[in-house]
Amino acid sequence: MRALAEIARNWLEEHKLPYKEQNTHSMRRDMGFVPIGVGEYVKLHVKANPEENPGELLARLRSCVSDALTGARCQCGAPIWVIGSVSAGYACFTCITGEAFPSEDYEIDEVLAVRGSSQPAARPA
Ligand SMILES: [Zn+2]
Repeated sequence: MRALAEIARNWLEEHKLPYKEQNTHSMRRDMGFVPIGVGEYVKLHVKANPEENPGELLARLRSCVSDALTGARCQCGAPIWVIGSVSAGYACFTCITGEAFPSEDYEIDEVLAVRGSSQPAARPA
């Protein structure tokens, strides 16, 4: 699904989401997702994208979170990345970003809590 990854990347670039803090000088922390609450993320997202309707975004996030909690998966078999999937369509972190592992990328806290780990599940071989 190259097309999806490309669309997602373009989308992320266009919207300049505050996914990564500019703190390259700081010590590299453990790789993994940074937990963020749904409400908190909506605020961040809308701040960066004032044209986005917060109510609509929240509704999309909520439905994406509940699908993630019931085990929604990417076409590659990995659990979906809610933050990316809200805008790019259901897919995992790797398929959306092309990166193997998250590094200070946000993910919704309740999803991380249920998965019991900040690391993405390994892809099936
Ligand atoms: Zn995937």
